[in-house]
Amino acid sequence: MTTLPTWLDPRSGLSTCAPTAAAVAAALAAADPGPDDLAVLLAPAAAPYLEAMAQRAQALTRRHFGSTISLYAPLYLANHCSSGCAYCGFAADRGQPRHALTLPQLERELAALRGKGLAEVLLLTGERCVAADFGYLRQCAAMAAAAFPAVGVEAFAMSTDEYRQLAEVGVSSVTIYQETYDLDQYERLHRWGPKRDYAARLEAPARALAAGLRTVGLGVLLGLSEPRHDALRLFLHARHLQRLYWRSGITLSFPRLRSQAGGFAAPYTVSEAWLAQLVFAMRLVLPDVPLLLSTRERPAFRDGMAGVGISKMSVASRTTVGGYADTARGDLAQFDVSDERGVDEFCASLRQRGLEPVFKNWDAAFRDPH
Ligand code: SF4
Repeated sequence: MTTLPTWLDPRSGLSTCAPTAAAVAAALAAADPGPDDLAVLLAPAAAPYLEAMAQRAQALTRRHFGSTISLYAPLYLANHCSSGCAYCGFAADRGQPRHALTLPQLERELAALRGKGLAEVLLLTGERCVAADFGYLRQCAAMAAAAFPAVGVEAFAMSTDEYRQLAEVGVSSVTIYQETYDLDQYERLHRWGPKRDYAARLEAPARALAAGLRTVGLGVLLGLSEPRHDALRLFLHARHLQRLYWRSGITLSFPRLRSQAGGFAAPYTVSEAWLAQLVFAMRLVLPDVPLLLSTRERPAFRDGMAGVGISKMSVASRTTVGGYADTARGDLAQFDVSDERGVDEFCASLRQRGLEPVFKNWDAAFRDPH
């Protein structure tokens, strides 16, 4: 039976206590806020303080990231999957055409992204299967790393040795969301396949950092479970990794559940206002951690959050396999995109707000020699 590790125990009165206005003010003013402060800042009682939280978050973002917004694009390698996540359009029981990019097709996708001026790419696949296994992923990652200064991978949980092999071919980051930290809900939603193993997934980011990858991206799929609990445990996970791997980088993402094939209905509603509250609160407790916002969110919301907590954003995203070089493909996307602006339009919007888009991730220049 899986049990939660002690470092994931919130030990806060999150579920029972409704903080007072004085407690919110104290959390906002804390010099080094911790999990109890975060629990307070995520509570309904903190909603009237959203403007004050935004100002604090913006000042911290400016101090640690200047006026820059780093840009990246996701690239779907394959939509094959051996798992059955109830909330995902790529789950193995969804009837849809399945593809894995051939290497020449990947070359065209990479060229299309380079043509947009992008310099950081995140490679995605479903859970490992014969059509898209680790060997395939490593080959694709090597090709991408030869063409892009920064390559991340968002795929399945791997062994330490597999992560080491990715680092060796030039991958600098791994993104692996726990989706939800609620163990019961996790087991209900992950109906079959390797992803059912909660503990193996939970420990994957630590294995990636132990293997020499520079950065891991964490997140929860907001709406799958009680969002305040998930957000608090996300913070505890990030802090645990920071203590163990203090020379490595952590990033956090805040994806909200979007409509997708299968018609899964989110059990919990996460409003834009609460998402903003979450981002501001997370900036206060993790002042120097890059916080990401994807094209799942609508343009006006993304514009408003850029530089106000958020320091890194995807742009011009396609969530279909081969969607950059062949924009006419009719495959099902993993989820719907809300912000469909191109790179130029999005960058113009950032500049109008006094923000500078950054394409090149300079981490690659500092990569440790192997
Ligand atoms: S979330 Fe990932 S592992 Fe789960 S069904 Fe979708 S692609 Fe497969």
